[in-house]
Amino acid sequence: MSSGKPPIVTCPTCGKEHAWNSSNRYRPFCSERCKLIDLGKWANEEYRVEQREADHGAPEDLQA
Ligand SMILES: [Zn+2]
Repeated sequence: MSSGKPPIVTCPTCGKEHAWNSSNRYRPFCSERCKLIDLGKWANEEYRVEQREADHGAPEDLQA
């Protein structure tokens, strides 16, 4: 462990390689922008799933 070089990680959003920096609070993303994009992606997915379930309606609840 003589090397003080930080590991290189790949940003999940843009795929850019960047050095893991413990002072980067957006890690493993390279930037705040990429973190927000990823969060937005997840939020949209959840929103779509909720909408689909709502479309199916409550029949299952009625049967149970
Ligand atoms: Zn990025």
